[in-house]
This record gives sequence, structure tokens and C-alpha cells, in this order.
Amino acid sequence: SNMKVDCLRSCMTRVFSLCESEAASRGHTFTIDLPQEEVTVFMDRDKIIQVLINLIRNAFQAMDITGNVHFSLSIQNTWAVIQVEDTGKGIAAHDLDQIFDPFFTTKEEGTGLGLSLCQKIVEDHGGTIAVHSELQVGTVFTVRLPITTDTD
Ligand code: ADP
Ligand code: MG
Repeated sequence: SNMKVDCLRSCMTRVFSLCESEAASRGHTFTIDLPQEEVTVFMDRDKIIQVLINLIRNAFQAMDITGNVHFSLSIQNTWAVIQVEDTGKGIAAHDLDQIFDPFFTTKEEGTGLGLSLCQKIVEDHGGTIAVHSELQVGTVFTVRLPITTDTD
């Protein structure tokens, strides 16, 4: 496999620059917040990049008019905590328990495969993905990945 000890800050910086032009063309504000210290995880870098791009593109698509997407990394004990926070339309309560199901989509041209793939990849990394949403206010997706230490 392509699993190796790798740095999340550079991975997220890469994702941010890949998504910046889409944010600009949609008129959204897009911001990133990274910790001072390096955060290393055992990961397949390209797959984690795919997860994060999926979450960010969903966030852009959740905002009809202009909005804000905030992309951040923090550390909680032994976990790297990545959040994608938007000011979009939110997710209805009755949809919330289906959004990770393959082929569930509320979009005319959606495949509904993005989040199920995100969940599979994150869980294959020993992590978790969670969502918190409020209608007409916005949505936060939280990805937690185990941090590696030198002794691993
Ligand atoms: P798709 O993007 O093809 O619809 P996904 O699996 O990526 O498939 O997402 C499934 C559904 O979850 C979306 O159709 C949408 O209803 C909901 N969703 C995902 N992310 C967001 C978000 N940031 N804000 C509002 N709804 C979202
Ligand atoms: Mg999607």
C-alpha cells in the first residue's frame, strides 16, 4: 500500500491550494488554520487528499450565494482533528443518518458516492468522520486521525 508516516500540514496546504480557485470562482471566502507544530499521521497521502477535497467541494456546493468555508487542523490528545466548516444551507435532520450511504444525494447531478468513500478511507486509517449541521446556518465535518509518535 501507499501508507507512510506523513505530515498533515503540508497535505492540507496542498488541498487548500488545489481548492482555492474554485472558491474564488464561486465567490466564497476560503480560509485555513494550521497549528505551529508538525502533525504526523500514518496515511495514504493521496487518499487523504481525496477525502479532504470531497468535503471541501461539498461545502462549496452547499452555498447558493457566497459563503465562507474554513479548513482547520488542531490536536486533541493523540488525535489530529481536521474540520471543514461551511455557512451553507445545512442538512435536514431526516437526511443526516443517510448522508454516508452510497448513492444518497440531494443534488440533481450528484453521485452520492463522495461521503461513503470518505468514511471508508478515514476508517481504513483508524479514524472517524462526524458531522454537525444546522439548517440555514451551516455544517461542520470533523475528521479525526490517530497521530503517530516516534515510538510507533
Ligand atoms: P454528492 O455530493 O454526490 O451528493 P456526497 O456523498 O458527497 O454525494 O454527499 C451526500 C449528500 O450529503 C449531499 O447530496 C448533500 O445532501 C449532503 N451534504 C454533504 N455535504 C454537505 C454540506 N457541507 N452541506 C450540506 N449538505 C451536505
Ligand atoms: Mg460530494
